[in-house]
Amino acid sequence: MTSAPHLAAVAPGFAVEAAPALPPALVRRLLVHARAGGAPAVTVSAPATGELIAELPQSSTADIEDAFATARTAQAQWAKVPVRERVAVLRRFHDLVLAEQDEILDIVQAETGKSRVHAFDEVGDVAVNARYYASQAQRLLAPRTPRGVLPVLTRVEVRHRPKGVVAVISPWNYPLALAASDALPALVAGNAVVARPDNQTALTALWAIDAARRAGLPEGLWQAVLGRGSVIGGEVIARADYVDYTGSSATGRTIATQAGQRLIGYSLELGGKNPLLVLADADVDVAARISVRACFASAGQLCESIERIYVHDSVYEKFVAEFTRRTKDLILGSARDYSYEIGSLTFQRQIDTVTAHVDDAVAKGATVLAGGRPRPDLGPYFYEPTVLTDVRPGMTVYREETFGPVVSVYRVHSDDEAVEQANDTAYGLNASVWSRDIDRAREIAARVNAGSVNVNEGFIAAWGSVAAPSGGLGISGGGRRHGPEGLLKYIDTQTIAVQRALPIAPPPGVSEALWAKTMTLYFGLMKTLRQQ
Ligand code: NAD
Repeated sequence: MTSAPHLAAVAPGFAVEAAPALPPALVRRLLVHARAGGAPAVTVSAPATGELIAELPQSSTADIEDAFATARTAQAQWAKVPVRERVAVLRRFHDLVLAEQDEILDIVQAETGKSRVHAFDEVGDVAVNARYYASQAQRLLAPRTPRGVLPVLTRVEVRHRPKGVVAVISPWNYPLALAASDALPALVAGNAVVARPDNQTALTALWAIDAARRAGLPEGLWQAVLGRGSVIGGEVIARADYVDYTGSSATGRTIATQAGQRLIGYSLELGGKNPLLVLADADVDVAARISVRACFASAGQLCESIERIYVHDSVYEKFVAEFTRRTKDLILGSARDYSYEIGSLTFQRQIDTVTAHVDDAVAKGATVLAGGRPRPDLGPYFYEPTVLTDVRPGMTVYREETFGPVVSVYRVHSDDEAVEQANDTAYGLNASVWSRDIDRAREIAARVNAGSVNVNEGFIAAWGSVAAPSGGLGISGGGRRHGPEGLLKYIDTQTIAVQRALPIAPPPGVSEALWAKTMTLYFGLMKTLRQQ
């Protein structure tokens, strides 16, 4: 493993210099979009370098109240704006994100510590979501006219009504993608959004709001309130008409309880313990190369990333050798360019979890083939990409999500065993199957309990195909983003049925008994005619 020359020379501890991580003028420009200041500020620093990012203002209850009041007023007007005009904002937003990517990449890197490679994944994600919903919103939001109870006489129209003000509560690991790509469909559907980004990555979310304003989004429609989720989450949910939450399964339960108390809708995108299956006929070289990307994107701090690999006995040695070699070759470091493959973890608690999982496994007999140690010489939260074998039930890493750069590799002897092992989890977010026989791989994929399964890819094939829904099974949450589902969750339907000429009741002089007989004949006739 190669380390960054300039970083390797810096002493552990890493309070490198007092220089700010981002230009103060940029930070001031972005903070304008936060409804905050009523509660004491918190200090946010760059994980990779220790540089100061901002003294981040926090929102009081009054700030949150204000944000929702403003959002409600703005939303009432926005709902009247034709969808084609709302769509134009998304198109301009798409162009701005691509044109100004250097600025937002710097912010994402400063706030998360991830490499530019993985920060760019977020730019791509937001661009494709903006493009998709810009192209589909008019079709998805158009009124429908399904058949009425009595053909011709009953005219039915289904309209779409925005929910109102949507709360988007997003975590820190993919701060641009998870803040913007869920807000865009809500906005284009006619809602306002009050975002509660993580404190650590608030400026990224504020940049997205700033870009949307410059793309023509009216003021007040997309605002951010700032604060720890455990402090202000309840206040936000208490005022929202719908909650879109991304984070851990444990917090998802709290969100569901709070939303359930209010009988408002919610969408939960939660954790994963994602499996990758290498079948006997897989192209092992490609599988090993892509698996490395699938395991260690954003240093494994990705809900979709692979934490368990099941390899058929016949290709096990070859796969493990190639996968381990490639893992050891990964270049760690932090710089605002594409020279490093893997960046820093984001918090001390992430390093603590990763260390605890690896140490527990090793103490109970696991073998470390690559990594297995922190790299304080690179920065306080760097940890080497780690490959474990001989992992068994009873080790924490066997079942619990690590959410870091740690993967366990297991030998299996049949497809059935691989599927059984892959499904031995309460999670069900993402999975990957490798085989040269696509039909066989698709058949295996259908047996894996996961909301997305990638054949001959790790996660990007399914995740990047934003016309298809993405979300989890089991404790990975039942929410869906992307595709029609990612927009339709933000609307209510309203059915307007107009009865013409004859009411649906016995005409004067016809008994209820005769009416029932007539309707019985009618129902039978409709079935014979194969009508809906
Ligand atoms: P976490 O649940 O502790 O925190 C996530 C976010 O929720 C944080 O910003 C936190 O401030 C906020 N939060 C905490 N308590 C809250 C409350 N009571 N009300 C409102 N907000 C609250 O999770 P974490 O460990 O920081 O994040 C990583 C987890 O997120 C992992 O489990 C990961 O798999 C999951 N995740 C899932 C997806 C997905 O799309 N399925 C994407 C990214 C991350």
